[in-house]
Amino acid sequence: MGRTEMTLEATVNSSPTTIAELVGHRTTETFALLDEESKREIRRALLQAVCIPGYQVPFGSREMPVARGWGSGGLQVTLACVGADDAVKVIDQGDDEGVNAVNLRRLVTMSTGIDETTEVDEATLIQSRHRIPEDDMNENHILILQVPVPEPLRGIERDIRELARMHAEADYSRMWVSLYEDKVRNGVITQSTGYPCLVASRYIVATTPIPRWDIPRLHQSKFLTLFGAGREKRVYAIPPYTDVEPLTFEDVPFEVESADGATCRLCGSSDSFLVEMPGKQESWSCSDTAWCRRQRNT
Ligand SMILES: [Zn+2]
Repeated sequence: MGRTEMTLEATVNSSPTTIAELVGHRTTETFALLDEESKREIRRALLQAVCIPGYQVPFGSREMPVARGWGSGGLQVTLACVGADDAVKVIDQGDDEGVNAVNLRRLVTMSTGIDETTEVDEATLIQSRHRIPEDDMNENHILILQVPVPEPLRGIERDIRELARMHAEADYSRMWVSLYEDKVRNGVITQSTGYPCLVASRYIVATTPIPRWDIPRLHQSKFLTLFGAGREKRVYAIPPYTDVEPLTFEDVPFEVESADGATCRLCGSSDSFLVEMPGKQESWSCSDTAWCRRQRNT
């Protein structure tokens, strides 16, 4: 008892300095929000993912200050990769000013002190959910995609062991059957976002909610693409210069979305991914707002 009192007294007496020291200590220790051990574990999973393109690697998804389903997986990948010299760009639906994008970017910059940017040229880490930027990207860029459903076969099989077997044996016959049924029923393959692709002629991946427009950008890309699914606790990767083939039949060509004759009402572009203005029919604008702004200024 005496011992406890003494310890308590000693703690109280020394607490102002100790806490100040502790806070100072912690500030330098927790660069990028996560503790070093967590970041190391996520990086280990990412390395495995890069070594086996398209393979979904389980990881210990952390509780984050954003709800699961709001980019917690992409955020953990970003925080595990970020260094003091990086600059980050975050987009949601191609827009840097989306509420979710602003919040995630603020979290990354506040916990690291690194620069933020809307320009692809200046960014080294680009976190996104629905788009790949229109700009050319190169070996200096890491694209980090927030993934809601990492399992491309989820729609045709729910048993986890069977899914593991199908991936392990590259038994994707039922995927082809489902695409064929879609084609027969609807005349076209209707899947528009998260289109399934074969990576390095081995694993089928879900390409997150990016539109078909962006899929060809992943094929033999110069940049590394990392996929993070926080709720489902999976990461996977497409390393630079890897084959990415959208699943389709020999006599059914893969086609991207197009709006015939449509142009952006702001910059006049007809060769970017256009989205219809809410509530206004036949009024289109570029989904990538930073790219659109640059088209108007040059
Ligand atoms: Zn535009």
